[in-house]
Amino acid sequence: MTEFATAPRPIRTILIANRGEIACRVIRTCKRLGLSSVAVYSDADADALHVRQADQALRIGPASAAESYLSIAAILDAASRSGADAIHPGYGFLSENAGFARACEEAGLIFIGPTSVAIAAMGSKIEAKKIAEAGGVPTVPGYLGADQSAAALAEQAARIGFPVLIKASAGGGGRGMRRVDGPEGFAAALQAAKAEAKGAFGDDTVLLEKFIGNPRHLEVQLMSDTHGNLVHLFERDCSVQRNNQKVFEEAPAPHLSEAVRTKLFDRALTLGRTIGYTSAGTVEFIMEAGGSEPYFLEMNTRLQVEHPVTEAVTGIDLVEWQIRVAAGLPLPAGQDQIRLQGHAIEARIAAERPDRGYQPATGRIQAVHVPRGVRFDTGIAAGSEVGPHYDSMIAKLIVHGANREHAVSALATGLDDLAVLGIGTNTGFLRACVARPDFAAGRLTTGFLAREFPDGWTPDAEQLRALRAQAALAWAHGLDPAGDSPWQRRSAFRVMGKRRAATVELRLQDDYGELDVMVRLETDAPVVRFEDGTEVSGTIPAATLVDGGRVQISRGGLSLDVQVSLAIDVDAGAAADAASDNHVTAPLPGVVTGLFVEAGALVAKGDSLVQMEAMKLVHTLAAPRDGRIARIHCAVGDVVASGAPLIDITADGEE
Ligand code: ADP
Repeated sequence: MTEFATAPRPIRTILIANRGEIACRVIRTCKRLGLSSVAVYSDADADALHVRQADQALRIGPASAAESYLSIAAILDAASRSGADAIHPGYGFLSENAGFARACEEAGLIFIGPTSVAIAAMGSKIEAKKIAEAGGVPTVPGYLGADQSAAALAEQAARIGFPVLIKASAGGGGRGMRRVDGPEGFAAALQAAKAEAKGAFGDDTVLLEKFIGNPRHLEVQLMSDTHGNLVHLFERDCSVQRNNQKVFEEAPAPHLSEAVRTKLFDRALTLGRTIGYTSAGTVEFIMEAGGSEPYFLEMNTRLQVEHPVTEAVTGIDLVEWQIRVAAGLPLPAGQDQIRLQGHAIEARIAAERPDRGYQPATGRIQAVHVPRGVRFDTGIAAGSEVGPHYDSMIAKLIVHGANREHAVSALATGLDDLAVLGIGTNTGFLRACVARPDFAAGRLTTGFLAREFPDGWTPDAEQLRALRAQAALAWAHGLDPAGDSPWQRRSAFRVMGKRRAATVELRLQDDYGELDVMVRLETDAPVVRFEDGTEVSGTIPAATLVDGGRVQISRGGLSLDVQVSLAIDVDAGAAADAASDNHVTAPLPGVVTGLFVEAGALVAKGDSLVQMEAMKLVHTLAAPRDGRIARIHCAVGDVVASGAPLIDITADGEE
């Protein structure tokens, strides 16, 4: 029996009211603690990883989140059917829904999180800022008033001074937020913000804030129990954002003075104490770059996406602590026992196309190659279908180093080696971010991405060319039928025991365009030659899938799904000469898969003689004339180069 089963509020079985990586992550801690886990899933997730990993899995509804992961009734019903005694909400979905926490409390279920009262108090940005101010925690100057008329808001905006930020009080995830630079644009922006807020949160109450030019986003992880213990687990810097949404997060924050760090901790603890907070929570601050005054932004009353960086530097499992607190147990460590070690950075891996305006990508994952030495939290695996229904974040890559420099270098290597094949991801973009000098130097503000990538992102031309060349090499290696792992074995391209040159021109087509290259197959290892004469040979990345003419390959964060086709057979001229009526030669490199005649046989023009397979296409070669088979140069299973002689025919009676 676990200590949780005998705790003041016993927990044996936890239902995870979520999906994707966070559901898998919570299940992992449940397993480690000897707790039973229950997954819930929508129709879109019937085969999802979290469903396979949990001890039990229950269907809660159709793909639409409103009818499944956001349905309180469906989740409570699943809890009752599964015999769960506690519910972990993860992040997103119902995690900050006070009504859900209350419904759990009323149903006699333990909600693994704070009380519904604390959630409600912090769920409104206006209420939260009022509470913070009352507790002496500085907030961004602005307007929190009840008069929500357009005229009053416009007047307040002018008082605050442009630029101002209009924010949805119920907002989250950067939605319902509009920056306004002057009075003329205010009315339209207000209308847009309110419409977005109404649609996303069912509440169009807004607040106004002074827009801070080039700020840093800093936040403090709090943890508290029901015995009056409240600690902080240091800060995180989440300044690297796109559209007000975090992309990279790290702990500790780089270039932060001890004075500011102390202010952050003091302010976060003050707020936590003011609201009598219990469980894991995050107090977010915004601070002018180079400034010394962190302003309270909001409090998230749940586990954050970026919690693993805190886990990495403290060695604490935050989900375990949440479960302990929910079970009524005290925090296992006091403030003076909590130490920070090294530096951790997280990158959010999303199924999206940064080269196409960050459009979400959907499709089936073909393969996932996880680099060594990193933490990789994910909800997907080879075979997973990424659909359009939920968030595009499919994984998080977390690195931990002795210091920031080591962590940045581990992040670069990790992104280089990570391969998700079958679907577009932002890995190449993330890798490009890490390569920027300001990233390495830790000069990070919320304007970093917009400044560094003003026109969006496209893969580096040189990198693209090199990876396409490797796709061509992988394809050429893949021609060797004996290779079970084609790119690891050296293909001996032989023709009747003797090596023979064959050069093919390949057309490589992928999402980013196309490229024609020459591939020479004459030696032990193929060589790719570009039009400018430069050549590439050598090894192919571990994460490569060759399926006929389709090569999926990833290196340096860039993944390509390349369609390989024969552009022109440059040996065709020679082959045509050789294929005079007396000779049948291979029209392209490939494997002999069928031999329909024997030496000495009589054939008529058009009879099938040999079958070849190349690029998963079957080619049947016919007799060019009537005659007798004089010689057969090949056997079934031979790998032959383009132009290789296969069969000689003589006129019947000739020698
Ligand atoms: P949400 O709850 O939608 O995530 P937040 O209030 O937490 O909204 O803000 C999200 C991000 O928006 C911040 O991390 C910051 O980058 C930006 N932001 C918020 N308030 C301001 C402000 N007053 N000035 C400039 N940027 C801001």
